[in-house]
Amino acid sequence: MRTDVLGVGFDNVTLDEAVGRALEIMDEGRSAYVVTPNPEIVQMCRKAAAVKDAVAGAALVLPDGIGVIYGAKILKRPLKERVAGTDFAEKLMERMSKTGKSVFFLGAKPGVAELAAKKLASKYPGLVIAGTADGYFTDDGYAADIINAANPDFLIVGLGAPKQQESWMASMRDKLRVGLMGGFGGSIDVWAGTVQRAPLGWQKAGFEWLYRLIKEPRRIKRQIKLPLFLLAVIGQRIGRK
Ligand code: UDP
Repeated sequence: MRTDVLGVGFDNVTLDEAVGRALEIMDEGRSAYVVTPNPEIVQMCRKAAAVKDAVAGAALVLPDGIGVIYGAKILKRPLKERVAGTDFAEKLMERMSKTGKSVFFLGAKPGVAELAAKKLASKYPGLVIAGTADGYFTDDGYAADIINAANPDFLIVGLGAPKQQESWMASMRDKLRVGLMGGFGGSIDVWAGTVQRAPLGWQKAGFEWLYRLIKEPRRIKRQIKLPLFLLAVIGQRIGRK
């Protein structure tokens, strides 16, 4: 049973458990997908049924964002830990490198996915790079052809708005032949080094959002929604009593 936070069901797993499950699902080779919703995506699910259905259809729903962890705590059904998409995908690639599995990077600006692939391949020798493509394509069928020709064990999808990676994976699933795929937003930029994550201390203290806000003040428009998310969670708790 998934843990419900504002209508989105989360799998209550640690990072290691999530990676273990992902490896099993990957071997089934049914193009299943992983999502890592943060509060912003949860709010989107409440407004857009297509996004909600896409998230519910995932084989693994991992809690990214400290807001989801707080939300679950407020609802008195705490989740084991925050599983950030970037950490999950990287740990999975580390494990994949031990058995020579392959990964395809789809997303970010032209050239960034190649850079990310190069850096990860040298960090984890044994990891096979099946291919890369930027995230500004207009023809989904063409993108699917390139991915299917590369036949990766793992497809990393890093698409921002307007594509909406969760809905994209749900709608493309039947057209793709991959072991497993997952939506990881701006992670490709992080691996490429074009965007820096917060230092570990900030991440552990639950302040990654603050670090990002300081680095990119224009995010205030998005982060201002976090208190609204927590208010909605409090509403869910009161409504349940
Ligand atoms: N992106 C993409 N295709 C698009 C729009 C965005 O590949 O049409 C990429 C963007 O380059 C970045 C990632 O998606 O690598 C996340 O973008 P955004 O800033 O929207 O998302 P965030 O992670 O900040 O939610």
